[in-house]
This record gives sequence, C-alpha cells and structure tokens, in this order.
Amino acid sequence: MSVKKGRVFSGARPTGRQHIGNYFGAISNYVKLQEQYECVYCIVDLHALTTMETTQDLAKNTLEMAWDWLSAGIDPQKSIIFVQSMVRQVTELHTILSMVTPLGKLTDLPTFKDKVRENPKNVNYGLVGYPVLMAADIVLYRADMVPVGVDQSPHIEFTRETVRSFNYRYNTNVLIEPKIKLTEFPKIMGIDGVNKMSKSLNNDIEIAATAEETSAKVMQMVTDPARLRRSDPGNPDVCNVFSMHKIFSTPEQVEMVNTECRRAGIGCVDCKKMMAANMNAYFAPLREKRREYEKDPSATWDMLREGAKRASVLAEETMVEVRKAVGLPSLLKE
Ligand code: SF4
Repeated sequence: MSVKKGRVFSGARPTGRQHIGNYFGAISNYVKLQEQYECVYCIVDLHALTTMETTQDLAKNTLEMAWDWLSAGIDPQKSIIFVQSMVRQVTELHTILSMVTPLGKLTDLPTFKDKVRENPKNVNYGLVGYPVLMAADIVLYRADMVPVGVDQSPHIEFTRETVRSFNYRYNTNVLIEPKIKLTEFPKIMGIDGVNKMSKSLNNDIEIAATAEETSAKVMQMVTDPARLRRSDPGNPDVCNVFSMHKIFSTPEQVEMVNTECRRAGIGCVDCKKMMAANMNAYFAPLREKRREYEKDPSATWDMLREGAKRASVLAEETMVEVRKAVGLPSLLKE
C-alpha cells in the first residue's frame, strides 16, 4: 500500500445532481487526490441550511450528489465520504471556535456581504457564523491541507487564524493549521456562453443527464454571435462549443473545427452534434455506474453512515483534546 502524503479535507453543499462545471471544478480533482492523500470528503448539509427556504429536498439532493461523486470515481474504500450532520462533534467544535472569533471579523468578510446582498430577507445567525463552521469542519478531521482556487484561499486563511486564536487562548497546540493547496480549476461556461455554469442560472448540463437531454442542451449553446448564416465564417476563439471540444474531442477533431469553422467549412449544427456525441461518450461509463447506485438508495445511505463512523473516530480524537484544552467539565470523572 502506498504511503499517503497527508490528509485533505473538502466539503461541498448538497446541490443535487452535479453539472459539468462541478465535475471539472471539483469532482475530478477529488478523484485524483485520493491516490496520493488520505481524503475526507463531506457533503455539508448544515452549511446548506443557512440559505435554504425549505429543506424538503435536502435528503434527495444529498443522495443525488453522492451518486454523482461515487459514479465519478470517489471511492469509499480509499476516502472517507459522509454527510456533515452525521458527525455531531462538528457543531460542538463550531460553538467552541465561535468563542475565539470576533464578530466584526465575520461581518467584515466579503463573502458575508455577498450573502447578505443575495439573501437580504434571511440574514440569520448561521450565515454570520458560516466561516466558523467551515473552520470546524477542516480542523475537526485534522486536515493538513484543503484544495481551493485562489478566490477561496481567504476562507482557509480565516481557518488558520481561528486555529491560532484557539491555540493561543487555551495555551495549546491541539488544533492544526491547514495549508492551502492551491488548485487551478478550469472555468466552465454555461450554455449561455456568458456566465459560469450554474444550476441557479439554469445554464448547466448535468453529468448524469441522458444522451438525449445532453444533446438538446448542446443544441441550445450560444455560438459565435457574429456567425449569422451557415455561409458566414466563424471564430472558434469566442465560441463556447469550441471550448467544450477542447475538453471532449480528439486533437484531430479540435484542429478540424478550428480550421473549418473559420472558412465556413462546418456548420454549427454539425459541430455541436459532434461535440455532444463526444460528451456523451465521455460520461457514458459514469452514467452506467450511476444507474446501478440508483437501484439501491439505502445502500448509499449505509455507505455514507459508514463514512460518518470513520469520520467520527477522527472527530472524537480531536474533541477529547479540545475539551481538555478548554477545561470543559464534560471530561471530569465524578
Ligand atoms: Fe462554434 Fe462550431 Fe459554430 Fe464554429 S462551427 S461557431 S466552433 S459551434
């Protein structure tokens, strides 16, 4: 068995069926990381509560997301995969870390201000404490590093500061400062060709969509806006279909589209059909695996509970030390 280089933690909110942007932005990286690191992957349902108006789809979205993760190759034998609320210690650590976090620091965070702008009618206490819960997630499992893009690195910096505050306040070194594992995530544009792919903008293509649904979405993709007729030459450099070709098509096909589009040798319909076929071929094995998982939802819940059991062992080890450092009477014997 190969020796792993350290522990990685990453969490994602249960947003249901995942799209191609999620796949290339996070999931495929999760799959790669588990070969080199001990990985802890968490579906953060408690985080999702901060902005949810109704929770009726929470369990369904959690399961759908787990199915996409598993069928993409996140392996419960190699990694710990679980649901945040299944490990109760995270809420305890969240409370304890709240005591070493100045309120002003939380309300000054740009992410908090963004959330307030997005949800002006629901600025709840949980929303303010979101980064503290995130810090609790990371340090509870003693993660050495967290894979993030440049724009998310302030969150990890916040966690590192929180760890320093805790360790200083309680004169301990119980909590570990996680390192930032800077990762470049390709920006996948939505079918509108203008915005990043996003479920809320309804410009996404789900990785588990059927071949027909995928082709229909690809046909809706915005192309070079200057190419009005089939006989007009196009510019692949401004066309999102071409960006997708670079991901899903062979180098020869990419070269052919690049050349033929510029001299109107290929029409957008044929170009899209080729790309959709390649996209469908790429995701076919994943979709087949997913259909197997879908046959037995209770097996997936069992697997997530099993992951939570393994995560709870790590969590409890940390919390015993944390309670001791804080001096909580819960550890005193009568
Ligand atoms: Fe885009 Fe292809 Fe149409 Fe060129 S031929 S504009 S690359 S869809």
